[in-house]
Amino acid sequence: MTDRLARRRQRLRARQADRFGRMAEQVHVHNPFYRAKWQAAGFDSPPTLDDLTDLPFTTKAELAGDQDTNPPRGSNLTFPFDRYVRVHRTSGTTGKPLRWFDTPASWQWFLDCWLETYRGAGVGPDDRVFVAFGFGPFVGFWTAFEAAQQLGCLVMPGGHLSTEQRLNVIREEGATVLVATPTYALRLLEVARELDVDLAGSSIERTIHGGEPGAGVPAVKRQLAEGFGARVFDHAGATEVGAWGYPCGVGEHLHVFEEEFIVEWLDRTTGELLPPLDPGARESDPSLGELVLTNLGRIGSPVVRYRSGDVGRLCAAGCSCGRPTVYLDGGVRARADDMFIVRGVNVYPSSIDAMIREAGGVAEYRATVRERRQMVEVELEVEPEPGREAEVLRLGLQDLFQRRLSLRIPVRIAATGSLPRYELKANRFTLERP
Ligand SMILES: [Zn+2]
Repeated sequence: MTDRLARRRQRLRARQADRFGRMAEQVHVHNPFYRAKWQAAGFDSPPTLDDLTDLPFTTKAELAGDQDTNPPRGSNLTFPFDRYVRVHRTSGTTGKPLRWFDTPASWQWFLDCWLETYRGAGVGPDDRVFVAFGFGPFVGFWTAFEAAQQLGCLVMPGGHLSTEQRLNVIREEGATVLVATPTYALRLLEVARELDVDLAGSSIERTIHGGEPGAGVPAVKRQLAEGFGARVFDHAGATEVGAWGYPCGVGEHLHVFEEEFIVEWLDRTTGELLPPLDPGARESDPSLGELVLTNLGRIGSPVVRYRSGDVGRLCAAGCSCGRPTVYLDGGVRARADDMFIVRGVNVYPSSIDAMIREAGGVAEYRATVRERRQMVEVELEVEPEPGREAEVLRLGLQDLFQRRLSLRIPVRIAATGSLPRYELKANRFTLERP
């Protein structure tokens, strides 16, 4: 690490310590959820940043349990309830949705974090931003929308429109930035092809993706970049955590916004904390770990040492963009709670997805994971893109899974247009239990 980088890391650490201390003081006095947790861990006075690793982790199940036992709002609230102005819900892919409350200050903090993504992607006030999504209780697109407006962009909501109508909005308003999940961006490309709309030649210059792993996967990124004729950026955040990951435009790096979040990284199997990898560690390094996040500015409903469920490879500071913050190489690779084990092999849906994207030629697919007599099996149905030789695609995929995962995964061909398409996050994996 150069002296300059070391000094910038030191300043960052001092800023974190100051903000953590101020947050912990308020939370220790006024937030019943964390006060109880911290007191049980022996902290009768507010912890400092040096105490962080002695504090207990927070899990999603624990927060959901707290909302069940302290209905309807749970006890992770630092201020009197009349100070809160917004509530959002997690998308609830696993278990019951969490409800998350924000004060005006914590909401503004969330938007400020989103601005870091726009800055990293080179988006400015002259841009016209299309947020291709129907606005529901999911927080991601609300924050993307409001942050773009605060940046001075012209911003277009994309709710209650068909995919064809969304393509029209992009054309008519001359949108320069598309914000969408990677799944939906690929869907826009598919429909554009069917309608003979040239998105690569459209006004879109940048695409920003979040909500699910994918945009950091090289094969997906390439497909999006070519399809939109645009630069493709990844973003990461969560309803209960905030917008913690932003792109810098170098390689597939997703920086952790360490000015506002403290990140730890742990081995999921042993629960041990891992040191960040040296920058430039190669793909052959197998380390994938789960991120543990503490936010420093959402004092009304904070998370401290939160097991985010986001899995990736955390690299030490030293990205060639010059930022002093640590980053994820390849973005968020997977969700920890989606993992299943087939004949002793840990399989993440996102790694199967990455292989399918890499192979190319698949318009849509669906996977079924079956548990039978202690055995787990996966089967895949794929819809070939128009003009693809189905049998070649089928055998090619089976061979790819065999080589990469040492697993026989049977692939069946599905009729064109027969598999479901997705507007937000994909839900291509179904689990069947006897
Ligand atoms: Zn960077």
